[in-house]
Amino acid sequence: ALPDFGGNISFENVSFTYQDTGIAALKDISFSIQSGQFVAVIGRTGSGKSTLANLIMRMYDADSGTISIDGEPLPLINLNSYRNQVGFVPQEVFLFSDNIRNNIAFGLDTVTDAEIEAAARNAAVYDNIMDFELKFDTMLGERGITLSGGQKQRVSIARALIKEPRVLIFDDCLSAVDTRTEEEILNNLGNVMKGKTSILIAHRISTIRKADKIIVLEEGRIAEQGTHDEL
Ligand code: ATP
Repeated sequence: ALPDFGGNISFENVSFTYQDTGIAALKDISFSIQSGQFVAVIGRTGSGKSTLANLIMRMYDADSGTISIDGEPLPLINLNSYRNQVGFVPQEVFLFSDNIRNNIAFGLDTVTDAEIEAAARNAAVYDNIMDFELKFDTMLGERGITLSGGQKQRVSIARALIKEPRVLIFDDCLSAVDTRTEEEILNNLGNVMKGKTSILIAHRISTIRKADKIIVLEEGRIAEQGTHDEL
């Protein structure tokens, strides 16, 4: 494990090009996030937001520049223990043909019903689940029920929260929930994320008002960064 993984993240002159298409998705990106900060990343479609999240998750390595976690270059860190400490909510939700409980507990060996319920509450999906006859035993997928887009997103958020990670990354995962539910989730997260690092990729300006820092991407470059008041 990374015993003193503090959740400081820094990009120094990071560039990344998708080899198959030759698209330069990130160009000379530099920023730093202190442990415990809430950082929002905004920008138009195709500006490189998901690519930035994917690089932090080490789906790809940067072509040049350095991404560091607590001062340690990402390629030198044990990938499994690192990923265990990062809760990632991808843009595309992956759910399994299994019950809701197992979809939330995915990848964890020992997890209690109380922990699953707390994660569902913080992700603002608990009440929806309680409305189903079989509650957390409700099957999803081919042989089960179909959740709405927003419910799927919130199950996916619960899955990330239950790990109690040091770092949370949300890739545009509130797009399918209404503004009120979004506010509820963000309020809950404010409590859950105290002292932890969170990165939220968003579209709505309302989502990011409370961010400690806002990074604005434009065609793969940082156009601006600062607080809501500064920008
Ligand atoms: P959106 O808001 O639509 O999700 P984004 O800001 O997250 O957009 P990215 O998904 O990071 O943008 O894409 C940045 C650029 O890289 C785009 O031009 C996109 O077409 C390209 N791109 C993204 N993923 C891939 C991939 N897997 N292979 C090749 N090119 C890609």
